[in-house]
Amino acid sequence: MILLLSLICLVPNKYELTYEETSIIVEPERFELHDYVSLKSVAELLGLGYVMDNTTQQLFLTAGGRRFVLIPDLRTIEYGDRYYHLPFSPVYRNGEVYFPVQLITTTLGSAFEKLIFIKRVMEIPVINDISLHSRADSTIVKFSWARAVDFDVRFSTRQAIIEIDGIYKERPKLRPKGAVTSARLTPHNTYTSIELGLDGVNSVIERDDEIVFFNKVTTKVALIVVDAGHGGIDPGAVGKKGLYEKDVNLAISKVLKKFVEDSLKIRVILSRDRDIYLSLKERTNIANRNAADIFVSIHCNAHLKGVPRSGFETYFLSDAKTSEERAVAALENASLKFDNLVMPNDDLSFILYDLAQSAFLDESNHLAENIQISAEKNLKIPSRGVKQAGFYVLNGAFMPAVLVECAFISNPTEEKMLRKKNFQRDLAYCVYRGIRSYIEDYERRLNN
Ligand SMILES: [Zn+2]
Repeated sequence: MILLLSLICLVPNKYELTYEETSIIVEPERFELHDYVSLKSVAELLGLGYVMDNTTQQLFLTAGGRRFVLIPDLRTIEYGDRYYHLPFSPVYRNGEVYFPVQLITTTLGSAFEKLIFIKRVMEIPVINDISLHSRADSTIVKFSWARAVDFDVRFSTRQAIIEIDGIYKERPKLRPKGAVTSARLTPHNTYTSIELGLDGVNSVIERDDEIVFFNKVTTKVALIVVDAGHGGIDPGAVGKKGLYEKDVNLAISKVLKKFVEDSLKIRVILSRDRDIYLSLKERTNIANRNAADIFVSIHCNAHLKGVPRSGFETYFLSDAKTSEERAVAALENASLKFDNLVMPNDDLSFILYDLAQSAFLDESNHLAENIQISAEKNLKIPSRGVKQAGFYVLNGAFMPAVLVECAFISNPTEEKMLRKKNFQRDLAYCVYRGIRSYIEDYERRLNN
């Protein structure tokens, strides 16, 4: 932890200050957790007179008859015969006066009527090396860097596209090896992309500094990831009586885990076992990292306008066919906003990329059907059938994956039911029975 912290401190942000046609890059100093910049450089950029009176410790900034006076370590500034109070005081260090970055526009900028733009510039991480290693059962793309760099992988059985949020100084040599039949490296201004041709790969695991492509032959379902939708700052849909979808999803997921583990002796990992926030991508990553055989995301439905809806439906990832399917996906994908991610313009744009789920389209459909058949048998609420839409959370899952909409939290009757332990148990049992019949069917098909 100490090492990690010191690494972070070694990489300060920089700021780009722009006034009219001129931009300067300044390195801030950090005082009391705030970024400060030297006022001398700001004064130069804005064309202000800068006079430090060392006897009185006053700093005078002037332009066109206006005068701005400040004293380091005092929160009071004098401007136009009046005094103003700052939330943080300027700081005097090594013969220079430093001023909080976040106050420049509102104080100096407005006092002198100068339109100054301030932008934080993140330093682009550097990739030291990228190498390929081949083992009997796997091929590994290994990264080396001084500081962890984020990357993203989209893959199918034939191709992988890796985007790394960093640039390299020296072009790494990437020669095809093992399951990698071709490799193309493209440098961009702020990131690097790699396109790999693959042969015989059927599973991929992402780790901190490597991507492992390997031949995993699933003859038996050994691990299921159950994903309780939403959590933490993201409540999901909220019922009229104030029931949070995130809480119901978690309660159902916990019971489902118990049903599967006790009755099927199959390991279950919950993407979250308490009220915490997880990004949509992280949920699928948990399944991919653990090479799960099935991924089930548990949600409750909401219908915003019109006649209240009711019932249970199961989705797999594909293009939505109806506007209703599209609306459900849009509602669930709204979690992306908690991730500071921009919503895809149309809900198909990311599905086209989803080379991973497309390989499991049939299996995901089968799984959804089995769960939906179980709903008809085991639930008293209507069965709304198997549906398909562009759910971001199913994107990139390298296994059969479905999203279950248990009931309508937006419908007061079902909201009331969803609160009850018994109904939560019924829903978990229904999903468990669906998974069970899917597995039986799957293993029967496989052994024939
Ligand atoms: Zn949801």
